[in-house]
Amino acid sequence: MIVVMQEGATEAQIREVEGALEQWGYEIHPIYGVERTVIAAVGKPTMDEGTVVEQVESLPAVDRTMLILKPYRFASREYRPEKSTVQVRDVIIGDDRFVMMAGPCTVESEEQLMTTARAVKAAGAHVLRGGAFKPSTSPYSFQGMGEEGLKLLAQARAETGLPVITEVMHVKNIDMVCQYADILQIGTRNMQNYDLLIEVGKLKRPVMLKRGMSAKIEEWLQAAEYILKGGNDQLMLCERGVRTSETYTRNTLDLSAVLAVRELSHLPVIVDPSQGTGRASMVPAMCRAAAAVGADGLLVEVHPNPEKALKDGAQSITIQSFQALMPELGAVVSAVGKSL
Ligand code: PEP
Ligand code: MN
Repeated sequence: MIVVMQEGATEAQIREVEGALEQWGYEIHPIYGVERTVIAAVGKPTMDEGTVVEQVESLPAVDRTMLILKPYRFASREYRPEKSTVQVRDVIIGDDRFVMMAGPCTVESEEQLMTTARAVKAAGAHVLRGGAFKPSTSPYSFQGMGEEGLKLLAQARAETGLPVITEVMHVKNIDMVCQYADILQIGTRNMQNYDLLIEVGKLKRPVMLKRGMSAKIEEWLQAAEYILKGGNDQLMLCERGVRTSETYTRNTLDLSAVLAVRELSHLPVIVDPSQGTGRASMVPAMCRAAAAVGADGLLVEVHPNPEKALKDGAQSITIQSFQALMPELGAVVSAVGKSL
């Protein structure tokens, strides 16, 4: 960490900062300039660096501090230079295979789920998605089938062999969701639900952490750090669009986030163009774009009858559209050196 003193800081004020830094376990390397003093503090402090920053900045005559290390360690590329992978049954996420996760936004009935599961499997999907616990902006909209929905997902897995991804919204439901799901999805609204992150960090189960709709990349990686720090390294991220001034699309799908994560972290990144655009007409092209930019896979909402969907129908593509998408995607995926 670097501490920049204010112009005119007295010797006593500088000593006070140096003494405090040493007390917190740092070795100090001061540069006494003509106008200002800069103190480089190296080593591992005895308390969390974020707290040190707050305390140093409250000392008299401190102008500002700069952290040299990233505020996330286990998620960083420095910690692990090579990409990490997540294994879900026999599907590996994060290597040369581009992974397609598809299914309805929400499990609505046995017929709806089984029809979709069979169709996406036949078209080449690797993972079945479907929400049983649904976070809803409106308390009056469909909240999901709960455990009945989870049972249907398990039934669809038994028939098709597809592993299942579904959202867990609350700490109290983790055990139940784990009984049925292969991947736990943490939704955008829960990216900063730290209690939930800490609990899934204690599991060995794969987790997909969605980006908060207004989260900066650094905040997203810090949320990931909660899970990794607990010991669960089976983690992937999912870019699902962020809030901007635009309202024509439901969110603004930030494909540059895939590149940012690639630069900063080793974690696999999935893209969700369904929540990302809110418009079925845009989903196939954004799927191809995500593959082109180097995402590790996609999460796509598919519904046998989108106009009748209880949730997110406007952004759900039809089974026919999904069937048409797969070969188009295959071409893009192979152009970037991967396979579908
Ligand atoms: C979803 O995948 O249906 C969903 C609710 O996602 P998000 O948390 O990104 O809104
Ligand atoms: Mn949805």
